Amino acid sequence: MDISIFADTPFDDEDAMEDFLLANSLSHSLVATTLEQNGKFIATYPISSMGDESNWKDEHYRMHQDEFTLLGLTGMPDWTGFDFEDEAQWADWHSQHAVVHQAVNSVLGITT
Ligand SMILES: [Zn+2]
Repeated sequence: MDISIFADTPFDDEDAMEDFLLANSLSHSLVATTLEQNGKFIATYPISSMGDESNWKDEHYRMHQDEFTLLGLTGMPDWTGFDFEDEAQWADWHSQHAVVHQAVNSVLGITT
């Protein structure tokens, strides 16, 4: 799944956030399945809904770090302390997140 269409997820829009959360979760599931098909295994977490924001951020970040490590990628941004209540940080995070997903998809040959 191409998560880049969610790079511009509007700030403070609950419906848009739900769409993003589902797309992001599906994208991570596809990455985990593709890794598994290549004999590599990654822990997954329930990230299709936000629930506790701090837990969501931690678990989602852990998956991204694990994906980068397993694939030998470098340059994973440090998302510690990103404030989703700040519109500028929100936009910055979504841009970085889309780039990170594109990097992983590119290595794995995921084009859908
Ligand atoms: Zn993600």
